Amino acid sequence: MGLRITDIPIPGYEKVVMAEDPKAGFKAIIAVHDTTLGPALGGLRMWPYESEIQALTDVLRLSRGMTYKSALARTGLGGGKSVIFGDPRRDKRPEVFRAMGEFVESLGGRYITAEDVGTSVADMKWIREKTNWVTGRAREEGGSGDPSPFTAYGVFLGIRALVEEELGRPSLKGVRVAVQGAGHVGWFLMGRLRDAGCEVTVCDVDRAKLDAAVKEFGAAPCDPDAVYGLDADVFAPCALGAVVNDSTIPRFRCKVVAGGANNQLHEPRHGEALRRRGIAYAPDYVINAGGVINVAFELAPGGYDEAASTRKVEGIYDTLKRVLRISKEEDVTTAEAADRLAEEILSEGRRKRKGASKPKKKR
Ligand code: NAD
Repeated sequence: MGLRITDIPIPGYEKVVMAEDPKAGFKAIIAVHDTTLGPALGGLRMWPYESEIQALTDVLRLSRGMTYKSALARTGLGGGKSVIFGDPRRDKRPEVFRAMGEFVESLGGRYITAEDVGTSVADMKWIREKTNWVTGRAREEGGSGDPSPFTAYGVFLGIRALVEEELGRPSLKGVRVAVQGAGHVGWFLMGRLRDAGCEVTVCDVDRAKLDAAVKEFGAAPCDPDAVYGLDADVFAPCALGAVVNDSTIPRFRCKVVAGGANNQLHEPRHGEALRRRGIAYAPDYVINAGGVINVAFELAPGGYDEAASTRKVEGIYDTLKRVLRISKEEDVTTAEAADRLAEEILSEGRRKRKGASKPKKKR
């Protein structure tokens, strides 16, 4: 009966554990990548994984990404992630999420969960029956609610930073932005872009969302495939990952790629390919950190504070400018510059943890 928890030792990861409860039809993995800067926060993904290896690969990659994202966003948190084996359309049952709650609780606060692909605020309620280490709760329950407006605000400020720095334009007025995806993030982003006087073009595979965006924001519609070759200043991917790849890069006519989607580069080498084409790229985990910043405020001693969260999201603008500077000074891609900065913040955290106080060159 109950949960069977097994350790999976993985070099470079603090703790990786798998749990099973056959009676509840439950199987999940939690990866705690790094807690140098604080407890490991990262969402819970539900996906019909075809194998344990596939699920493990996903959770390892995602949890490491959270460490870097949170380090640069200065949330005071570390990086972790969890995955449940299952189809979100079929396998969502209270007992599955209760078992997940027990699993999260077994780590005693070292890992804090939230919703992610395939899970929702409603699922977090079941988890919460078994553990307090849950964020992403509804506003009515004292939580931070929908993270998308905060993610979009960070993306908007990031676009401003890159347009100023790379296009030498002090204002967004008249800047042509192509938004891929009129979903949660894209929607709120388009509102900000319209208010700033941008010329917005939008595409979405969902016709109803496209029509709604055209109506609401006065955006020009375009076909999903045509977006890559559009004559725009900024391409803002707000839908899928891997949209910067061997087939799209030669078609790009934009000067900046800056959007909310996760994992925009198909492979790291595509960051270099963009650079060679003279296209500036806002590393995804830096520009889309608004959501995690907002959710992290649920853990603040005084509880969630929207104004404080908004101020912190505004820091994304400065962080991106810093990343651009490092990329130029050290002659590396912006993605590499962001990784270097995150690693520096982590090393500083490790030194502090050990009580060492050797000063280090400040960037
Ligand atoms: P969403 O599902 O609400 O919106 C995605 C939209 O993209 C949908 O309207 C969908 O129809 C559209 N779409 C899918 N395929 C497309 C295609 N080929 N061409 C054009 N449109 C397409 O998702 P979201 O919450 O807005 O998230 C968007 C992206 O941002 C994802 O990559 C997500 O991981 C990332 N992200 C979101 C948040 C957040 O706060 N929601 C935070 C960080 C990162």
